[in-house]
Amino acid sequence: MARPRILVVGSGFAGVECVRRLERRLSPGEADIRMVTPNAYQLYLPLLPQVASGVLTPQSIAVSLRRSSRHRTRIIPGAAIGVDTAAKVCVIRGITGEESHQAYDHLVLTPGSITRTFDVPGLTEHARGMKTLAEAAYLRDHVIAQLDLADASQDEAERASRLCFVVVGGGYAGTETAACLQRLTHHAVRRYPRLDPGRISWHLLDLAPKLMPELGDSLGRAALDILRRRGIQVSLGVSVAKAGPEEVTLTDGRVLPSRTLIWTAGVAASPLIGTMDAETERGRLVVTAQLTVPQAPGVFALGDAAAVPDLARGGNGAICPPTAQHALRQGRTLADNVIASLRGRPLRPYVHKDLGLVVDLGGTDAVSKPLGVPLRGLPAQAVARGYHWSALRTGVAKTRVMTNWLLNAVAGDDFVRMGFQSAKPPRLREFERTDAYLTPAQVREHTRALRAAG
Ligand SMILES: Cc1cc2nc3c(=O)[nH]c(=O)nc-3n(C[C@H](O)[C@H](O)[C@H](O)COP(=O)(O)OP(=O)(O)OC[C@H]3O[C@@H](n4cnc5c(N)ncnc54)[C@H](O)[C@@H]3O)c2cc1C
Repeated sequence: MARPRILVVGSGFAGVECVRRLERRLSPGEADIRMVTPNAYQLYLPLLPQVASGVLTPQSIAVSLRRSSRHRTRIIPGAAIGVDTAAKVCVIRGITGEESHQAYDHLVLTPGSITRTFDVPGLTEHARGMKTLAEAAYLRDHVIAQLDLADASQDEAERASRLCFVVVGGGYAGTETAACLQRLTHHAVRRYPRLDPGRISWHLLDLAPKLMPELGDSLGRAALDILRRRGIQVSLGVSVAKAGPEEVTLTDGRVLPSRTLIWTAGVAASPLIGTMDAETERGRLVVTAQLTVPQAPGVFALGDAAAVPDLARGGNGAICPPTAQHALRQGRTLADNVIASLRGRPLRPYVHKDLGLVVDLGGTDAVSKPLGVPLRGLPAQAVARGYHWSALRTGVAKTRVMTNWLLNAVAGDDFVRMGFQSAKPPRLREFERTDAYLTPAQVREHTRALRAAG
């Protein structure tokens, strides 16, 4: 008899944790496991700002999918661009562009999220996100290029726009990105004797009245004080009204001359969810507490792409926030539930009480709230780095990250610009490949054609 086919979409926190557990707990004869993913690594996203600032190399947070003694999952290099839950088929676009399909018995959807954008004129053309390794590497190059170009320019207006940097989004991603990149320019400018450090400005904006409200009032204020002490101009209750190639207009009427707009104002579920004709909540796929998708037999979803009921907060419509902490643990519950459904046992609900937040602002600056205990300065930094370091999946990744941290602490950074994409900067949708997806009707058409072809 053919083995049941388990197809996992995505190789992030949720997908990899699920697959590793399936590999450990199912014998090879019990199921055929496949994973569709555009990249052959799991990206450790919380350390991405440190790649942008050059503290870590890109390779150190790209954790190999194949380095595991039990690795037996077949990896399909590509992206799922549509799901037909009635036909139990997933449409795939391979990394070289050809389309194919995968039939499944159990489908695990973990395609994560993309940068959430709004209808702000010029935003999608001129803003860059902080969601992929390519974006982080590109941003680092771009920021160093602004220093190089300002240094070479005699034009005051050009210099001003190259030395002004704008980050939108006061959550942990935006705050860490602004803090880490400001440290980069602060140290790098010493190598540019003609540039006045006082002319470099960093702006962090958020529409909300507080930075990272989940930190609580006192730690949130501490984070704000650290940023302001370092010269980052934080504007709350403010966002971007219009973005252009050389200036950013704010909702309070200010016009900042700037050629760098970094957009980290939240995430939206992967567009793959929109190909399914299924119920969503704020764009995330509605699932039960057992992580199953109602009306879609054999389909499970979790992580940033799914609206998972947060039973630890009492359910009642609360859904889990899009964090690695939840995605990873949902991956474990899901593997157990897939195994339970293969073996005809009852599924268990996902319950996890939030463990808190760690925010690394670069150097010895940090604020953390592990298990509700507020920390700042070195203890917070030790907790933040210790937490991330221990969460890295392989010994090699741990060694790379630790070596990078030590090397950076001892030898600093050379601020070398690699020359990525300097002539034609890619846009958000090119970095995150958001226009690759089919409509639900196109997906159905695809499976009809498959059936007709026999
Ligand atoms: C800068 C930054 C800092 C963060 N810091 C923290 C933090 O400190 N703590 C915390 O808990 N969380 C943090 N997060 C959030 C956390 O990283 C996410 O919540 C977590 O990664 C979600 O896990 P996931 O498995 O759902 O998605 P991801 O980890 O994003 O994985 C999604 C996977 O799916 C793949 N994929 C996407 N589309 C497709 C497709 N169509 N077909 C196939 N594969 C696809 C992707 O390549 C990726 O492998 C941070 C996020 C960012 C961006």
